[in-house]
Amino acid sequence: MDNTEKTDRVKHDVFEVLENEEIHFQNHVKVILKALGFECLRTIAMITDSSGVDELQESVRKTFGKGKLYERMTEKDRLAMFGPCFAEDASEFQFMPGERKLIIAASHVSKELLQQKEQTKLKIQQKNSRLVTSTTTQIVNKPKKNLVQYFAQWLANTKHPIDYQFINCKINEENLTIICKLCPAAKPFTVYIDSKGCYKVTNFVAHLKKFHGKEPRDTNGRPPSTSLNVAQTLAQTLAQTSSPPTRRNVSGAQKRQADTQDDRSSNSEISEPSSKRCSTGREV
Ligand SMILES: [Zn+2]
Repeated sequence: MDNTEKTDRVKHDVFEVLENEEIHFQNHVKVILKALGFECLRTIAMITDSSGVDELQESVRKTFGKGKLYERMTEKDRLAMFGPCFAEDASEFQFMPGERKLIIAASHVSKELLQQKEQTKLKIQQKNSRLVTSTTTQIVNKPKKNLVQYFAQWLANTKHPIDYQFINCKINEENLTIICKLCPAAKPFTVYIDSKGCYKVTNFVAHLKKFHGKEPRDTNGRPPSTSLNVAQTLAQTLAQTSSPPTRRNVSGAQKRQADTQDDRSSNSEISEPSSKRCSTGREV
């Protein structure tokens, strides 16, 4: 037996564990428990009560206390197993009252230690499963297409009222950003990849809807004239297609309404395009 093996066995010696819990058996009780196969917390926990101790006692008498096994034992062995009181006649072997109580106490302690162990194990499992869950959601699948392919296709198929040519944007695959060449003042728009590997071009789509929609817009992305009256707005829109209006037509109150409407519309639609694309397949 090498040293590691030795340390390993010592570490798992149930009697050392029990000694830490103030259960100190006399040597011959340890020898008996080991000889009868009670070498771990689980079996010792099953002794439970006085009748369990009676069973042990009976086993000692029958198995070791008489017959060939007893005859073959040296005096030293008999003393080690049965203790000074029964070494000479082990057929009548019995545990001393204190030994009985200690065995029962050891059984209860073993049960408690096992329960503690189970609870710790359960806590670790729960903690690990939480870790696994959070790691899984963080994993980003690689998109099947590059951003250029994805966005060109998106632009070609979009049902949003956007009037924009793909050549008017510049895509950086490394940084995952899109620049609008028509709006030099606008900062690059960041593209995200969600956990399913879908591109999220929400920021840039919002820009397209605001500044490059099919409806005429002024340089601030505002509709040239607005009204809360839908019919009126529609009539105006139709009229505007032939003669694009200027900002001078917009009164202060109308302009404020226009801002509010515009913000509302872009916010409500902001997540639509990417999620819609995602559901049809991650590469689109
Ligand atoms: Zn632009």
